[in-house]
Amino acid sequence: MELTTIYERIDANRQHMLDLWQELVNADCGSYNKAGVDAVGKRVAAFLEENGMTVRFHTCETRGNLLIAEYGDMTKPFVLFVGHLDTVFKDGTAAERPFTIRDGKAYGPGVLDMKGGIVIALYVMKLLKEWGYAKYPIKLILAGDEEVGHAGSDAVAVIQEESKGAVAAFNFETGFMDNSVVIERKGAFHAAIDVAGIGAHAGNNPKDGRSAIREMAHKILAMEALTDFDMGNTVNVGVISGGTVANAVPEHCRATVDVRFTSTEWGRQYMEKIKEIVEHSYVDGTTGTMNVPFWFNAMSRLDGTMKLLERVNAIMHQEGFAPVTAKSVGGGSDSAYTTSVGVPTLCAMGVQGAGNHTVHEWADIESLFTRTKMMTAIMMHL
Ligand SMILES: [Zn+2]
Repeated sequence: MELTTIYERIDANRQHMLDLWQELVNADCGSYNKAGVDAVGKRVAAFLEENGMTVRFHTCETRGNLLIAEYGDMTKPFVLFVGHLDTVFKDGTAAERPFTIRDGKAYGPGVLDMKGGIVIALYVMKLLKEWGYAKYPIKLILAGDEEVGHAGSDAVAVIQEESKGAVAAFNFETGFMDNSVVIERKGAFHAAIDVAGIGAHAGNNPKDGRSAIREMAHKILAMEALTDFDMGNTVNVGVISGGTVANAVPEHCRATVDVRFTSTEWGRQYMEKIKEIVEHSYVDGTTGTMNVPFWFNAMSRLDGTMKLLERVNAIMHQEGFAPVTAKSVGGGSDSAYTTSVGVPTLCAMGVQGAGNHTVHEWADIESLFTRTKMMTAIMMHL
C-alpha cells in the first residue's frame, strides 16, 4: 500500500476526526479539575484500545493522570509522541463556548492547545496500525497537568523515564500559522514573595512603622534589574498587592514574579539571585519570604533536533508538503523534559492557529488533516 492510500483514509475520516475533536473540546478539563482531565484520558484510552494500542495510566493524586499508550515492540528503539490532556480553562467554559466552526476555523476551550494535536496523534497511530506499519514502535505520552507545570505531581520524572530510548520525539502542541516548528523554548518559574513589615498609624506614630510596600519597592527594582534582554533572561513582577488603608504604614505586601530563562542552569542561578534579594532587608525590621509554585525547565536546542529537522524537511520535500522552519519561543512545554534526557524533539506539531489561553483561541480546520498527513509521511520515511 502506498502513502497516498493513507492520505485517502485521512480524507475519508474527516468527519470522524472533527467529531472526536469536538468531543474533546466540549469536556471541561482544566488542570485543577482532576475528574475532568481523567475523563478525557479515559475517552482517549478507549479510542486507542479500540484501535489495538496498549494503554496504561500513571496515577497522580491531586492532578490528572498521565496516559501512556504503546504501539509495537517497545524493546526496540521507538518514536515518542507527546502532549497534554489538560487546559487552562475553568469549569463551565465548555458549556459557555462549545466547539464551533466558522469560516474554516474551529473555536472552543483548548481547541488549539491542544485537543487538535491529540486528534492528530491518535489518527496517525490508528491509520499506521491499519496500514500495518512496523518500522518504529510508537509511545504516546499525554500528561494531565502540563499547564500548571506539573506542580504537585511526579509527571516530570515519569516523562523523563518513559522518554529514554526514543530515537525522536514529536510534541503535538499548538502549531504556528507560519509553519514553523519549535526547536527550543525558554524555561520559566514563578516566585510568590511576601514581605512582613510593622504596622503603625501614619499620623500618630509613623516612625514606629516599617513599610512592607517600601521594602517590596526596593526588591522589585533589584529583581527587575536582573533582566538581560540580550541573553534572553527576563524578570517580570506581574502582580502586586499590599497595605489596607492610606493612613497606616503597611504591614504586608505580596508580589508575584515571572522569570524566563534560556537554559535550565540559568534558571537555577536566577532562583538563587532572587532568593538573595528576598532575604536581604533594605528597610530594617522587615522580613521577606518566597515560595515557587511553578517551575518549567528550558527546552534546549540539541544537535540531534537540528538533524531531525533536516530529515523532516527532506521528507516534506519528497512528499510535496511545504517546508517547516525552526523557531525558538518563550513559552514552556513538556519538550523540555524529552530533550533533557537527550531525545531529539520537534515541538508545535499540532493544529495551527492563534490565541492560546484566551477566549479568542482558534485553530485552522484544514491543518488538522494536513498535519496528520505530514506526520504519517514522517513516520513512513524516518
Ligand atoms: Zn499546551
